[in-house]
Amino acid sequence: EAKAAGGNAIRSHTPVMNERITFRMSLETKLRRAVAKNQLQLYFQPQVATASGRLTGAEALLRWHDGEKFIPPDHFIPVAEDSGLIIQIGEWVVERTIAQILEWRALNLAVPPIAINLSPRQFWHSSISTFILERLRQAGLPTSAIKAEVTESVLLDAENASIEELRRLHAAGVMIALDDFGTGYSSLSYLQRLPIGTLKIDKSFIKDLVLDEPTSSSEPMVRAIMAMAKSLSLEVVAEGVETQPQRRELEALGCDVIQGYLIGRPLPAGEFAEKFLSRSRPGKDPAPADIACP
Ligand code: C2E
Ligand code: MG
Ligand code: MG
Ligand code: MG
Repeated sequence: EAKAAGGNAIRSHTPVMNERITFRMSLETKLRRAVAKNQLQLYFQPQVATASGRLTGAEALLRWHDGEKFIPPDHFIPVAEDSGLIIQIGEWVVERTIAQILEWRALNLAVPPIAINLSPRQFWHSSISTFILERLRQAGLPTSAIKAEVTESVLLDAENASIEELRRLHAAGVMIALDDFGTGYSSLSYLQRLPIGTLKIDKSFIKDLVLDEPTSSSEPMVRAIMAMAKSLSLEVVAEGVETQPQRRELEALGCDVIQGYLIGRPLPAGEFAEKFLSRSRPGKDPAPADIACP
């Protein structure tokens, strides 16, 4: 919707479009200011093993509070992408995530891999893989400390430079997850071309998994995705799990990991640590990030 406004801006300016363009420009100005003043935050949402509830990871999610107003990522990320601000914001997300992992480790907490979201545009600009690997190295963290989430839209890059970047990250040991799986339009053959280890089933499928009218259930789709993931040796994470029946159904279908309000909403770092991170017991129970260290 916002993209359409941007694309049509040159051709014709109806009053509604002018209003939209003005709104977008003011949002961009505000976002630019928020970035400069370091007013964006990262929240963290737990991912747990479906059956045991053991913490397996967390996703870092951007939050922007403009004064009293909360502006959701679905509103400001597209603005950040179109304006190019996503480059600066994306680098900040990498740096903040790494700094946060170091802070938690300094507190002797066991920190699972933390997933960050990468926009397609971050792959065009310069080498995001070099940036991430360099920052991890400087921090002295193993590459397994973070995970990258990308959507199928990275495949729209005609040069395929994005896939090369993903290969570099993967080869270095950074795990890659395909986000919002099932909502894209590309053919399935890319699943074999992409260096991914994880599929994240989009929350629209989870929402329709356990319904009163079974005819509109997404259960057959989820079952098919599970079978395909299994034959390709991909881990599956279900996102948007809100109810116990959904969790039970996902467990029955063999889904390894769940993420959603049922387990916990995205929380500021302090609250997330308090609620979900436990002390690591050196020698006995090292942080998961250490186990996978090559
Ligand atoms: P996503 O990567 O698919 O993130 C999952 C979204 O689902 C998050 O929305 C999360 O808060 C929401 N969610 C989690 N559990 C539940 C649930 O049980 N029910 C429902 N209804 N929703 C749930 P959020 O935080 O609003 O982020 C929206 C999107 O914005 C993300 O979707 C991602 O595409 C983008 N985004 C967020 N942070 C970043 C970032 O740092 N960089 C980039 N490039 N994109 C980001
Ligand atoms: Mg994500
Ligand atoms: Mg998603
Ligand atoms: Mg998304």
